[in-house]
Amino acid sequence: MPSQKKGKIQNELNPRTTEYEFLGPPGAFLITFGVPLTVYALFFGCSESSGGCPPPLASIPERFTTALSDCAFWSNLWDTQAALIYLAWYAFCVVAWTILPGDWVEGVTMRTGEKKKYKINAFSTFLLALGLAVGYIYRNGPQSFTFLYEKWVGFVTASLVMSVAQGLAVYVGSFRKGALLALGGNSGNFIYDFYIGRELNPSIGSFDIKSFNELRPGLILWTLVNISMACEQTVRTGGVSDAMWLVLLFQGWYVADGLYNEPAILTTMDITTDGFGFMLSVGDLTWVPFVYSLQARFLVFRPVELGSGLYQYFDNESQIPRYLGVLSILFVNALGYWIFREANGEKNDFRNGKNPKNLQYFTTESGSKLLTTGWWGRSRHPNYFGDLVMALAWSLPTGFTTPVTYFYVVYFTVLLVHRQRRDEEACEKKYGKDWAKYKKMVPYRIIPYVY
Ligand code: NDP
Repeated sequence: MPSQKKGKIQNELNPRTTEYEFLGPPGAFLITFGVPLTVYALFFGCSESSGGCPPPLASIPERFTTALSDCAFWSNLWDTQAALIYLAWYAFCVVAWTILPGDWVEGVTMRTGEKKKYKINAFSTFLLALGLAVGYIYRNGPQSFTFLYEKWVGFVTASLVMSVAQGLAVYVGSFRKGALLALGGNSGNFIYDFYIGRELNPSIGSFDIKSFNELRPGLILWTLVNISMACEQTVRTGGVSDAMWLVLLFQGWYVADGLYNEPAILTTMDITTDGFGFMLSVGDLTWVPFVYSLQARFLVFRPVELGSGLYQYFDNESQIPRYLGVLSILFVNALGYWIFREANGEKNDFRNGKNPKNLQYFTTESGSKLLTTGWWGRSRHPNYFGDLVMALAWSLPTGFTTPVTYFYVVYFTVLLVHRQRRDEEACEKKYGKDWAKYKKMVPYRIIPYVY
């Protein structure tokens, strides 16, 4: 085909982005700097070395100026050993992706009419990493695996360097001929496109960079970070508290569930619509492992024993109240998980041509169908509701001595409300008046009868 014609097809496939999200380049700029600063702030505002969680308000200005003039503070930001361990971890994930067997599953049809194939072996990578870590701790003792706690800031910096490097590399790579760009990432503004992600599916051969980062190096590291926190607690107190066990169990289960259901991400907005840029790289590699593990890190220096704490309120010998705290938090998490799994399961089944619960639906003009009973008849994003209930269960084990450990609940609410709006804008474009009809039938956005 003549190169002029090729270029024309390329331009038609990759139209200029004319509508901004996240308040455009100023918003992208603020988030690009705000995310790393927040990750550090959550450490310096909630750790034993900085004086508590949060440190006494009056001491913050003084602590801040002292920290900035302190050489140790700056040298802690970069830790070569942590950076090398992080690099080895990333390399381990790549090698595991390469050598572990896995089915190749097709993603959704892209604008080119093609379907990409993805290797499904995130869960076996998780099992391998978990097995190696547990074996290592069993052999060498819990003190051998506390380095993630000790070198926290160094690991955060290492993951940030990786996020920026990848963000820049895929941005530069997106200018090569033939790259399929994200519809929302081709504005021509460097700050915005670097942040939001210019290329839809940057790959090296059959290695898809976006889906790899989404599920492996950050998500699995989150579980390993939590295990490291439990090891640190064991070294200090001689055991793992019930509160720490709950956090380990809930978050570990969530990660395992996401990895076990790996093909489900192929239909999410991140994979089908968003480009891969700094927003996803920093979210996957830094935010998930080092912010989502805040509760476990907090429990290291402020251990909570839910059972014994509650027991003090009962003066009889009965063991039932002793476990009331643990049981109620287990219940909240189970409820959230049940809603999350049922809702995602109903939609996945339905999108794969199955309807085992005989749910009602209507056919839109585009030919695609929308469920109107079951969880998708109770709210338009019931899966987000389940996710939010679980988020609460993950913070409850830290007790009520500080609001900081509830940061995840607040942040996640903002994220999901924003995500619901983005998704519905896309659905409005896709389904037109059929979406308005669905909204009338299902008036609640996320929480049935509330929001
Ligand atoms: P969703 O799984 O919520 O899917 C949204 C899509 O579902 C819509 O675009 C539409 O696509 C389809 N849909 C909407 N209504 C209906 C209906 N009535 N019947 C059938 N299909 C419908 O997308 P997300 O990617 O946002 O979320 C996936 C999961 O990931 C969620 O459980 C979410 O909570 C979780 N998540 C977790 C995060 C974390 O950091 N822990 C971050 C973000 C998400 P179409 O019609 O084209 O099929």
